[in-house]
Amino acid sequence: MKKKRMSPAQVEMFVIDILPLLITIILVISLVVGLTVYFKHSDEVKFNNGICPKCGGYFMFYQAVGHMYGTSYVYKCTHCENCIEITEFRDETIGGS
Ligand SMILES: [Zn+2]
Repeated sequence: MKKKRMSPAQVEMFVIDILPLLITIILVISLVVGLTVYFKHSDEVKFNNGICPKCGGYFMFYQAVGHMYGTSYVYKCTHCENCIEITEFRDETIGGS
């Protein structure tokens, strides 16, 4: 059995066809990963481990808000009514029941 090998011209065609596609896919994936990391990080900063940066009170889950591209979650400080909106639901609020 003889293995079919691509001629250099075919290899070149293949590379020219596939490479931009691969680069596009890699760019899109890194963009999505980057944005996810960015939003997660900004969530961490906003949520501040469930502690309100203004008064030191605790954030409690307030409501879920539907957007065109997903759902975000509003948390409200139990002391000063300071509201934050984050992209990921968290139930590890320290505040209690
Ligand atoms: Zn507060």
